[in-house]
Amino acid sequence: MMQRILFAAACVTLASAAPRPGPRASRPRLVIVIVVDQFRPDYLQRFRPYFGTGGFNLFLRRGANFTEAEYKHAVTFTCPGHAVVLTGTYANVNGIISNQWYDSNAGRQEYCAADSSVTLIGSTDPGRSPRNLIGSTVGDELKRTSRGRSRVIAMAGKDRSAIMLGGHKADGAYWMEDSLFVTSTYYMKELPVWVQQFNASARVRSYAGKSWDRLLPMTAYAGVGPDYVQAEQNVAGMGRTFPHRLAPDTSPRFLDGFRSSPFQNEVLLDFARAAVTSEKLGEDDDPDLLALSLSANDLIGHAFGPNSHEVMDVTVRTDRLLDRFFEFLDRQIGLRQVLIVLTADHGVAPLPELARDLHPGAVRLDPARIAAAAETALRSRFGVPPGPGWLAHLSPPWLYLSVEALRQKGIAIEEAERTARDAVKGVRGVHQALTATELRQQQKDGMASGALLSFYPDRSGNIYYELKPFIVPGHEPTGTTHGSPWSYDTRVPLLWFGSSIKRGAYREATSIADIAPTLSALLGIDAPAGSRGRVLREMLR
Ligand SMILES: [Zn+2]
Repeated sequence: MMQRILFAAACVTLASAAPRPGPRASRPRLVIVIVVDQFRPDYLQRFRPYFGTGGFNLFLRRGANFTEAEYKHAVTFTCPGHAVVLTGTYANVNGIISNQWYDSNAGRQEYCAADSSVTLIGSTDPGRSPRNLIGSTVGDELKRTSRGRSRVIAMAGKDRSAIMLGGHKADGAYWMEDSLFVTSTYYMKELPVWVQQFNASARVRSYAGKSWDRLLPMTAYAGVGPDYVQAEQNVAGMGRTFPHRLAPDTSPRFLDGFRSSPFQNEVLLDFARAAVTSEKLGEDDDPDLLALSLSANDLIGHAFGPNSHEVMDVTVRTDRLLDRFFEFLDRQIGLRQVLIVLTADHGVAPLPELARDLHPGAVRLDPARIAAAAETALRSRFGVPPGPGWLAHLSPPWLYLSVEALRQKGIAIEEAERTARDAVKGVRGVHQALTATELRQQQKDGMASGALLSFYPDRSGNIYYELKPFIVPGHEPTGTTHGSPWSYDTRVPLLWFGSSIKRGAYREATSIADIAPTLSALLGIDAPAGSRGRVLREMLR
């Protein structure tokens, strides 16, 4: 109700300045939601001297910049991040606790976007849909309010990113498998002609054998440190330093290299342009929604870390791609009719080897050691398990106990949880560990924490743990990751541009769950069912 009133108020203000009075005139014809997969707000500051005028600077000069935006949840992975953006809620409501979890009843791992009742169109890989996403999204509410007339399209390099942004009612969610854009029978029976034509153009294959080199003169990169760092990954044999040469088309390494290069983003934005034109997005008064996620930034960040020439280069290249895309939207629809929001699904930790000077505790920690500590403690307390182990599964940050083994031996789950939790707490580098029983009690007591926002009892495990800041989980000696509750992972950009947005830098603490109710207010529709965010009214005209 509050949001309706706010929207009405926004309309009154806008109507006086708009050429055509009335609420419809102030609504955007097209909403563009851009998620950069793995992007930290410090990139906007550090690399800003190298940005052009119309990419990130469209927001920074003419739009709204929420400098203190962050995810409030603790488990900062891709699927949970994308699920927050258009539901306005966290995993405690939307159910997307991680990229995957363990289904104790079925005795198998469940992927966040898996759905065996559907198949893919254009690929033989397992079925995908938003079935595991609980509640509605901005796109779902837009489809409902417009009685299906609004178009909702989502796209990404990764399936989970496109699917979570698309919601349940998207006209199409597309992602890249091998060198093609594919979708699921969940959305349609066959690929639209424009997607078939795009695939037929063999756009991805045209990058075979190409080199990714620095966009700017070498001196521009000096500030970020050396190009060669031993702890960087040698992805697809492309080396740790520029130039990174993609393998030829015939090599199985080509696609790995392509996905870890800025070229994937180029193809995605070409695909976005094709979608705008072919789906006639923004052409009439029923607002359309195009959500896209740039996946290459993530793979590059994982391989080289946030203080690398490669991350600087892909950031500057992203700026140029956005500039061209916004120019296209201006020509095609007129930027006055477009509302754009840009954010990320998570940040990333620095390479521990580079962070150690400032943070002596920065090390790598193999999560298998945490599982081993818990299993050893359970064996010494309860003896040899009747099956393969007292632990059924490790899916960081969750350990799942074997409910079957505990039942057979008549051991209370709470008792086993406490034993495992104490063992996990004892592992050097662990910040805290909590049992599911403790989290359920905290939930009942109305407590608030990042762990609770990432907790969904039916899907979460028995023991939850967090590592100390700057400890990077993994068993490889190279690369870095995200997934922690620390600020380098939770803080992300939140940028807005549109005719109803008041320009400026906003320094209030902001949750990424605020995006969905704000978009809903601007579109004059109900906020998604589970939405817990607030309308960012301070930036509305
Ligand atoms: Zn991600």
